[in-house]
Amino acid sequence: MAHFNYLSVEEQDKLRQTANAIVAPGKGILAADESTCKFRGLMKMNKNVTKENRRQYRQLLFTSDQAMNEYISGVILFHETVYQKTDDGTPFIQVLKNRGIIPGIKVDLGVVPLMGTDEESTTQGLDDLTKRCQEYREQGCLFAKWRCVLKIREHTPSPLSILENANVLARYATCCQQAGIVPIVEPEVLPDGPHDLVRAQKVTEKVLAAVYKALSDHHVYLEGTLLKPNMVTAGQSCPIKYTAQDISKATVTALQRTVPAAVPGITFLSGGQSEEEASVNLDAINKYQGKKPWALTFSYGRALQASALKAWSGKAENIKSGQQEFLKRAKANSEASLGKYCGGVSGAAAGEVLFIKDHAY
Ligand code: 13P
Repeated sequence: MAHFNYLSVEEQDKLRQTANAIVAPGKGILAADESTCKFRGLMKMNKNVTKENRRQYRQLLFTSDQAMNEYISGVILFHETVYQKTDDGTPFIQVLKNRGIIPGIKVDLGVVPLMGTDEESTTQGLDDLTKRCQEYREQGCLFAKWRCVLKIREHTPSPLSILENANVLARYATCCQQAGIVPIVEPEVLPDGPHDLVRAQKVTEKVLAAVYKALSDHHVYLEGTLLKPNMVTAGQSCPIKYTAQDISKATVTALQRTVPAAVPGITFLSGGQSEEEASVNLDAINKYQGKKPWALTFSYGRALQASALKAWSGKAENIKSGQQEFLKRAKANSEASLGKYCGGVSGAAAGEVLFIKDHAY
């Protein structure tokens, strides 16, 4: 064994414990890692989005009522937010830790085109990743996210993009684990296009199979990882309408065929579904009868924040109502992660379509 260095048993234990804590029953992740320009899009305002009002908005979320602690196990932060503080000078990371919520960090540096392909991409940020992970770990972050993007078109995703993105995700995962950080592996198959549910399922299966082959090749400790996939839904402009039961069957089947039982949890992205759809579909997935050796919960950005952002609208007098909207969705998704969501929770933007073409994060 002298030639190999691998994580020690203690390092593995810590990673596994963090991963398990994130997917504890009834809990999920708030993805609040929107980059500066993404945040502007979400706010639907072109002016007046400053570092200070981004801080105020994150403060609104992180200082919500105590009930948040029952629904949210982890928060994904953006670099800027790691170093920000509440009005009284408490670092955000400390605020989260005091509530028993685990801080996480987005560590990818965005997508770049893959030359010679039909507008496919890979994700950059590997060069100094181990060093950045060590720094974030010192700041108190215990998990990370890295998003890769795959597109369904006539001839995509290509074998090149499937292989390249799987490999990049595996390299990212090893860098994280070496720094004591749980990697959330996110290969997002985008919902853009007219494809049907069967095609979405097949593509998701091929992508996930390649990802787990690469994670194995790179000696990633699976018990200390989480998967953040798209739910299997038809393309956003597909004329056929599917039920939540259809979506849950396609999603769970794709996962059964590709995700090892050693992975503790699957934390879905919302991917442009409305807030209510994302809750109803997660609930159906958890109600679906079949083999499910992993926790199945949420790691939503848009589907946890659309109503909150709309209610707040950047105004100090709306902070309470923004927080109430956020907690309504957090509670709905907590129930959905247990298969106990009854549906119909209203909200400032609960039914709004949150699809953004060619979504970047
Ligand atoms: P959405 O839930 O808005 O798709 O985003 C989650 C996320 O973290 C994407 O990387």
